[in-house]
Order: sequence, then C-alpha cells, then structure tokens
Amino acid sequence: MRSKKDLEKIESILIDRKVQLEGELFRLYHEKNDDGQVQDPGDQTISAVLENLKNTFQDNELEEYKLIVSALEQMKKGEYGNCLDCQQPIAQKRLESYPNAFRCVLCQEVFEDAQSGGFGL
Ligand SMILES: [Zn+2]
Repeated sequence: MRSKKDLEKIESILIDRKVQLEGELFRLYHEKNDDGQVQDPGDQTISAVLENLKNTFQDNELEEYKLIVSALEQMKKGEYGNCLDCQQPIAQKRLESYPNAFRCVLCQEVFEDAQSGGFGL
C-alpha cells in the first residue's frame, strides 16, 4: 500500500504539470483564434479550449493533458498507482518520473513490443 505522503508527492507533480499544460493549451488556443476580437476570459473554460483544439491538434500536449486528468481522477477514487495489466503497485520512483504511467516497467515493455508488431523494431 502506497503511503499518503507518497501519493501527495505524485499528486503535486501531476497538478503542477496540469497547470503548465493548461497554460500551454490556452496559448495554442489564442494563437489559433487570434482574430483581433477581445474575448471575455471568463467565457474560456478549459473544456471549451479542449473542444476547440481537439479537431485541429493531434497534439502530444493534449494527449498528455488527458492522461494527467485521468490519473488525477484515478487518484480521487483511490485506484491510482497500480499497473493496468498485472495489478501490482507501480514503483514510486517510476511514478515520480512518469506520474501518468499506467503500467509497471515490465508490462510497459510487453505493451510496447506488442504495439511495434513484434518484429523487433
Ligand atoms: Zn505490470
């Protein structure tokens, strides 16, 4: 069982990254929608920004943002930090480096092998 302190450490990494990505996504949104009109910033919720960007950006940042949001949701439900495949707890060090990891190192390797088609590429 992961300690509350360990979880809180990862949660703060996730939230920092989420805030950073939101800033980045808002910036992209404004670049794309810079038509000279003054917009009420109160109208621009993050969900409106995501809605606007998702049709045009196949963006890594957008993907990462979604992973972080779902990691935070898992954390709320107390389901965070276990491997999706083998259900074992993912190593704390791995989560601190990759807080949106859903698999342990071993299962991730198997998963990536399967994705590359198993041709040893
Ligand atoms: Zn695993």
